[in-house]
Amino acid sequence: MQTSRLLVFSLFLCVSILSAQQPKKLSSSEIFESVQKLNVLASVLYIAAHPDDENTRLISYMSNQMKARTAYLSLTRGDGGQNLIGPELRELLGLIRSQELVAARRIDGGEQLFTRANDFGFSKHPDETLSIWNKNEVLSDVVWAIRTFKPDIIINRFDHRTAGQTHGHHTASAMLGMQAFDLANDKNKFPNQLQYTSTWQPKRIFFNTSWWFYGNQEDFDAADKSNMITFDVGMYYPLKGTSNNEVAALASSQHLSQGFGRMSDRGSQQEYIELLEGDALKNNTNIFEGIDTSWNRIEGGKAIGAVLNQVEANFNFNNPSEHLPQLVEAYQLLQKVEDTHWKTIKSDELLNLIEASAGLYLEATSRDASACPGEKVKLNLEVINRSNANITLKSLQILDTSDKLTIQKNLIANNKFNYNLETTIHPEANYTSAYWLLNEGTLGMYNVKDQTQIGQPLSTPALQVQFIMDIDDVELTFNKPVVYRYAKPEKGELYQPFEILPPATVRMSNRVVIFNTGESKQIEVTVKAHTNNASGTLSLIHPEGWVISPNSYSFEIENKNDANNFVFSVQPPKAQSEGFIVPIATIGSREFTKEVVEINYSHIPFQTVLLPSQTKVVRLDIQKRGNSIGYIEGAGDVVPESLRQIGYEVSIIKPEDINPDYLAEFDAIVVGIRAYNTIEALKFKQNDLLNYVANGGNLIVQYNTSRGVLVDNLAPYNLKLSRDRVTDETSDVRFVNPEHPVLNVPNKITKADFSNWTQERGLYFPDEWAKEFTPVLSMNDPNESPKEGSLLVAPYGKGYYVYTGLSFFREFPEGVSGAYRLFANMLSLGKTTAD
Ligand SMILES: [Zn+2]
Repeated sequence: MQTSRLLVFSLFLCVSILSAQQPKKLSSSEIFESVQKLNVLASVLYIAAHPDDENTRLISYMSNQMKARTAYLSLTRGDGGQNLIGPELRELLGLIRSQELVAARRIDGGEQLFTRANDFGFSKHPDETLSIWNKNEVLSDVVWAIRTFKPDIIINRFDHRTAGQTHGHHTASAMLGMQAFDLANDKNKFPNQLQYTSTWQPKRIFFNTSWWFYGNQEDFDAADKSNMITFDVGMYYPLKGTSNNEVAALASSQHLSQGFGRMSDRGSQQEYIELLEGDALKNNTNIFEGIDTSWNRIEGGKAIGAVLNQVEANFNFNNPSEHLPQLVEAYQLLQKVEDTHWKTIKSDELLNLIEASAGLYLEATSRDASACPGEKVKLNLEVINRSNANITLKSLQILDTSDKLTIQKNLIANNKFNYNLETTIHPEANYTSAYWLLNEGTLGMYNVKDQTQIGQPLSTPALQVQFIMDIDDVELTFNKPVVYRYAKPEKGELYQPFEILPPATVRMSNRVVIFNTGESKQIEVTVKAHTNNASGTLSLIHPEGWVISPNSYSFEIENKNDANNFVFSVQPPKAQSEGFIVPIATIGSREFTKEVVEINYSHIPFQTVLLPSQTKVVRLDIQKRGNSIGYIEGAGDVVPESLRQIGYEVSIIKPEDINPDYLAEFDAIVVGIRAYNTIEALKFKQNDLLNYVANGGNLIVQYNTSRGVLVDNLAPYNLKLSRDRVTDETSDVRFVNPEHPVLNVPNKITKADFSNWTQERGLYFPDEWAKEFTPVLSMNDPNESPKEGSLLVAPYGKGYYVYTGLSFFREFPEGVSGAYRLFANMLSLGKTTAD
């Protein structure tokens, strides 16, 4: 039982990483490198917190120079980051960043692992991090990674001794790495894991240090390095025609959503690792000291090594298929080995090598990109042997089904065979989606119920085909995911994973709809069919007191992938109220409430995600003064759309169009987040903006980072930005100037307006300001001093200048009513009449 489970676990790891890419076709130099790697039985686990924390130079060095099996364990999937390439945030960004990590590993030769920890956003201290994550669950997952991957060596990216000096997730990753190093070999710790794997004690744990952790190069040069190992990771790889640094640059450039595209670099470069725990090193050169990393490491391995070392020593670059008899012999010997861990890993490596050496091309494609549970799927299976080896195709079988073709065909060199195979998707089959998003989690944790899925980078392919063949009379099974293959004239050949989708998905046109009056609004709902002839009814679930008409629509969609739109009228209640509207498509007796979201970028595989579909509706009790708002865009936020929702007329002002006459048309001007960090042209327009205030306008400036402000005169009076932030979105908000108009006119702001805020209160608050500014609010994170710079108002000439680091850009898209009411007051400052 244990063996077969382990085997499935590892195969799935391999297949899922490769699915839906152009199949990797190894050249003979790559085949040779794989033989070299096959002959090394060593492993390294690198641990950090986020996608993009990892040092790709070191991962590539371990994988390509040391030939060790190398994995990066990223505790999170990076949901809390920014997205520089598209609109996806939170879980969708986490999915993109998971794929970017897998793409990076495809280049640097590593493997990718995760825990269930969710990147909930910036965290100042590991204590806070570990209270929002479920510390025990994340520790369990790090132990699980160690027990299943069984690293000889662990390398932490961050220093576990520096709490509070970097992102709390970073320090927490190092602290958990240290703890798991001590616990993974204790059978009394997380014993439920031991039905699937065994305990494991890594030999050593290191910290991947550098000058950066010492503040500057001089301090690092002067530091005691007696406990450190250093090596040059700048080597050139003639077999690749590139150097380690170039591989590393290409790998880290996969983090495009984080703006990590970078130039490659060449030449000698030192890396340092500091021994934290484990066996001391006699001579500080070999991190694997005391570990036999040859085939002799495992019982029965000596004979396998004898065969494979010969292949390496006498490798035929012109015709690698010459080595097939030895590779097949080694595979046979390996099946008799008792060590299930290395047997599984090396069997996979050998199968890949045999396939590549024979020039075998095995592919399973579907006629359609997707199908629904219960539907028939037609597959085309291509098999070709491009060597003179004696290979017989015995059968083709769809994994986990009885759908099978018995063939018994000798694969004559370079003759292509195509087979058709039909299968029916299991009526209860799971839909294709990111496995960690299937169950609702918490702020700090994903909810994954199946222990064997924990750690896996991506979901298992929906369908897999087994190609069973005899090579030199030894039966070998090659598993391939079913893919959808097509070509676009402007892009060439493209692959995407075959997916299982529900017959219908539903999408709301808006995430949030704000009702600032009692008038009804129209909401559009889209039904998309993923099968032919989808027919049923569409209705909306809504909060009490809200009136929806009509009650339902019937839909009939003839063609798969077509969609129909339906418009409902939504009437809000008279009093302030909020809730969710959820669309339901009913087909027969089944209800479908999910939206399908496509993730489509060229550096990662195409994929879809199923997410709950809903719209938050908010009936606001809100008064406004002034109507016409000018908006200067910064790094991008949804504040303009949000202000339009509450009835303002919002015009986007291009920096080059700013002039006194144009500005005078607006009742207020709002500056987008980080505009003074990102919009160079504002340098020359700041005087116009301040004069606009002097002449009676309101200027509202949202947060900018304290570093890299492009203007000298951010405000009409002295104002110094700092890194003060309040990350606890539930922190108490005190009114230090309760009589100030911004808290009273036209909307009376109370503590209730600061409830249900999301992610944080605000960031980069000023910590010094001229006496002309009135601080309005005071707030702080636990155990910190009160911060009064979140909302500062100063009269200037006939108008008002407002600087606010409050996170309106996060609150508006979540429909947080208090944020809208406070913003309306900022826009109304000094104005006496409605509209
Ligand atoms: Zn990080």
